[in-house]
Amino acid sequence: MLFAGFATAAAGVAAARAAIKGASAAQTGELPFPPPEDELRFLDGELRFDEESRAAAAVDFGHIIRRTPAGVLLPGSDRDVATTIRWTGRLGRKIAPQGQSHSVYGRAQTRAGIVIDMTQFRTVHGVQNDRVVVDAGAKWSEVLAATLPRGLAPPVLTEYLELSVGGTLAVGGIGGTTSRYGAQSDNVLELDVVTGRGREVTCSPHSNADLFDAVRAGLGQVAVITRATLRLIPAPEQVRRFMLIYPDLRTMLTDERLLAADNRFEAVQGAVLPTPAGWKYRLDAVAQFSGNNPPDDDALLVGLSDDRPAAEISTLPYFDYLNRLAALEKLLRSNGQWFHPHPWLTTFVGDSQVESVVSEELARLTPAVLGTFGQVVLSAFRRQAFTSPLLRLPEDDLLYAFNLVRFPTTDSAAEADRLVKANRTIYERVRAAGGTLYPVSAFPMSRDDWRRHFGSAWERLRDAKRLFDPEDTLTPGYEVF
Ligand SMILES: Cc1cc2nc3c(=O)[nH]c(=O)nc-3n(C[C@H](O)[C@H](O)[C@H](O)COP(=O)(O)OP(=O)(O)OC[C@H]3O[C@@H](n4cnc5c(N)ncnc54)[C@H](O)[C@@H]3O)c2cc1C
Repeated sequence: MLFAGFATAAAGVAAARAAIKGASAAQTGELPFPPPEDELRFLDGELRFDEESRAAAAVDFGHIIRRTPAGVLLPGSDRDVATTIRWTGRLGRKIAPQGQSHSVYGRAQTRAGIVIDMTQFRTVHGVQNDRVVVDAGAKWSEVLAATLPRGLAPPVLTEYLELSVGGTLAVGGIGGTTSRYGAQSDNVLELDVVTGRGREVTCSPHSNADLFDAVRAGLGQVAVITRATLRLIPAPEQVRRFMLIYPDLRTMLTDERLLAADNRFEAVQGAVLPTPAGWKYRLDAVAQFSGNNPPDDDALLVGLSDDRPAAEISTLPYFDYLNRLAALEKLLRSNGQWFHPHPWLTTFVGDSQVESVVSEELARLTPAVLGTFGQVVLSAFRRQAFTSPLLRLPEDDLLYAFNLVRFPTTDSAAEADRLVKANRTIYERVRAAGGTLYPVSAFPMSRDDWRRHFGSAWERLRDAKRLFDPEDTLTPGYEVF
C-alpha cells in the first residue's frame, strides 16, 4: 500500500478536508497525502489541492522541468509556513518555497510535496532612511515603488525587476552595481525565516549569524525567508547611459578591467550579442546623477578603446533604466518566446582565464543557439565586494559573470534537451578553468557536484542543514542533499 506510513493522519482526513479553506472535498479529489486535521484547523491562509493550483506550481520560466506538487499553501502568516513545514516534514514529504518561479530548472518545484506560494507575502513595510523591511514574496519592482518616491533604492538590483526578494536572496542576486556593492545577499541587514524544523527565527550578522550566513545564497536549503530588512542608499533621479561597442573580445575585456579598477561608472555590464554578421561586443555603462548636474561625458570616456562613433549615449530617468528589460519581456511574450524552454547557463570565470575560456566557447557557439534576443553576459566584478560565504566565486580578485542567456526560437523539447547537455559540458570546461557555477543554471547537478561546488564552504552548509533542517524537508529542486 502506497501510503501505509500515513495511517494515523488518514483517520482524520475527512475532517481535515473540511478544514481546508477554499477547497471543497470534491476539489481536493484524491488527496495525495492527508494533512493532519489539528494543524489545518488553525491555518490563517489556505491549503489548496485542486488541479489548477497544483498545475500552476509545476512550471517555471525554464519550461524544461515539470514536477507537480501534492498541494499549494497560500500562507496567511509565518505561523502557517512553520506549521506546514512541520507536518510535511513529519510525513517525509518536501517543501518548495516558490517566489516568481523564474528558475530555469525546476529549482522551486517539488514532486508530491507542498509548494509554499510566497507571492502571498508581498507587503513592503516601513521605509526608513537607510533600510526597508519587505515580505520575501515582494518583487524588486514593488520594493522600488515604495522606496523611489523617498529618493532611496537598494544598492543592487537584478536586471529584471519582476523577481521575488526571497528568490534572489536564495541564489545571491547579481546586478550592474555588483562590482561596487556585491550581491543582493550582501546587502541584507536582517532576515525573518522559518527553518526546516518549522521554527520562526530572526537572524542577522549579530544574532544567529550562522543561520544568516546559511540562508543568504544558500539555495533555500535551511530555511524559508519570510521577511527581509534590506539596505537602502540614496537613489539618483537620472542616469547617463553609454552603450560602447568594441571590435573584439580582448579590447572589451581591457576596458572592463580598467573600469573595474577605477569604478568611474556606478554600473557596468558587458555582453556579446549575436548578429547576422557575427558577434558584437558591447559595454553598457551608467553614471548616475540628480538635478541639473549631468556628468562630463569626455571625463567618463577618457582612456577607453571603444569604437566611439558607434557609441550610443542617452539620458534616462533612473527607474526607466532599472526597468530596461520590460520592453524585451513584452516583445517575447507577444511572440511566444517567453514561454519557450530557457536552457540558461550562468557561471563565474576568473580574470586569468576569461579570455581563453570565453573565446573558445564563442568559437563553439553559434548565434542560433542563443536565439535572436539571447546574449552572452560578460560582466566584470571585483571579488572584494562579495561577502556571502555560500556564493562561490573563482579565486581571482577580478571575476566575470559568464552567462549564456538563451531565448530559443523553438519550443522543441529535444532542442532544449540538447542545450541542457551542452550546458553541462560547458560548465565542466568552466570548472576546469577555475570557474564556478551561479546556481541559476539549467542542467542537472549531482550531490557530488554540489559538494565540489561549495568546496571549503560545504561543511558550513552541511552543518547548518543538520541543525536547521535535519529531515531534509526544504527546497528539493536543487538536489543538494
Ligand atoms: C528574465 C530573468 C532575468 C534574470 N536576471 C537576473 C539578474 O539580473 N541577476 C540575478 O542574479 N539573477 C537573475 N535572474 C535569475 C533569478 O535571480 C533567479 O532565477 C531567482 O531565483 C528567481 O527568483 P524567483 O522569485 O523567480 O524565484 P523562484 O524561481 O520562485 O525560486 C528560486 C529558488 O529560491 C527558492 N526560494 C524562493 N523563495 C524563497 C524564500 N522566500 N525563501 C527561501 N527560498 C526561496 C526556491 O525554492 C527556488 O529554489 C533572472 C532570471 C530571469 C528569468
